[in-house]
Amino acid sequence: MRDILSNFPRVNLCHQPTALEEMPRLSEALGGPRLWIKRDDCTGLATGGNKTRKLEFLMAAALEANADIIVTQGAVQSNHVRQTAAAACKLGLDCHALLERRVPGKGDDYEQTGNVFFDQMFNTQIEFRPPGLNMNAEAQQVAEKLRSHGRTPYFIPGGGSNETGALGYVSSAQELLHQLWENKLTPKLIVLSTGSAGTHAGMVAGFHALDCDIPIMGISVRQPEDVQIDNVYKLAVKTAALLTDKPLSRDRVLVDDGYVGEGYGIPTDGTLAAINMVARNEGILLDPVYSGKGMAGLIGQIEGGQINSDGEVIFLHTGGAVSLFAYEDQFLAE
Ligand SMILES: *Cc1c(COP(=O)(O)O)cnc(C)c1O
Repeated sequence: MRDILSNFPRVNLCHQPTALEEMPRLSEALGGPRLWIKRDDCTGLATGGNKTRKLEFLMAAALEANADIIVTQGAVQSNHVRQTAAAACKLGLDCHALLERRVPGKGDDYEQTGNVFFDQMFNTQIEFRPPGLNMNAEAQQVAEKLRSHGRTPYFIPGGGSNETGALGYVSSAQELLHQLWENKLTPKLIVLSTGSAGTHAGMVAGFHALDCDIPIMGISVRQPEDVQIDNVYKLAVKTAALLTDKPLSRDRVLVDDGYVGEGYGIPTDGTLAAINMVARNEGILLDPVYSGKGMAGLIGQIEGGQINSDGEVIFLHTGGAVSLFAYEDQFLAE
């Protein structure tokens, strides 16, 4: 297979290919189709996760710009900020992160444990922000201030979700297609959780560029369906334009917003049940913000009959288990 990414600047941060594993006990427990899981939780950088693939392209751009400090933003328990901070250390750069207090009703421990603990270990300069601001604009202001003090900042948007970062998920799409061919699999669906949209958009753009028409279902962790489809489609179009001249149809972007619950970072009973079920059947850790909601969506679609028991389905595990430590009380209460 040709490598559609060979012309893009890239640094090596990610253990790849990530494993594609079968989940026979989960399939049986659900009476569902054969379930497989692509282990992008195991990308290798500081406990791994999906942002590492994006950072291979984003950090290459930062180095080309001669940056000495990365500026980015996320929610308090951002996996993106943790992986960015680690990548900055590995490349000898500083990192300045803004953390939005996006999730209501969390105690002090939430701002110290899990991802925040690791951010501090990587010597990230952290500033907290109240909820509801335009966080990318806030981060760009910080970058400009650093520039006026003689630094050379490189701004990475929340989730690493621009067309450069989304190339990381073109890489995952390309890798997955190779693994499907090796394992003689023809799945009928890919399921993933979708937030800042780069993962979903990169997968859609990658499949489109590689002429693969397997549908990709994004389980929204935050936005209503129409907003999320818009966000993913716009970014997928920009990403695909880097790879091919073929027009990308909007119908390629599928989103289910039925598993968001009360909002970003607030797990539902279904999220917690999905995390426990996958832990107890497969020994795999999901997370309460993203992959747990994604899995709740996969389970819900099997139980609701939208996914029947024929054929094979692949779940893309995007990581995030570090934030379980910020939610221990909710599991103990269960
Ligand atoms: C960021 C993140 C996602 C969502 O990916 P986007 O590219 O932001 O849509 C999913 N899972 C985990 C664990 C994440 O950290």
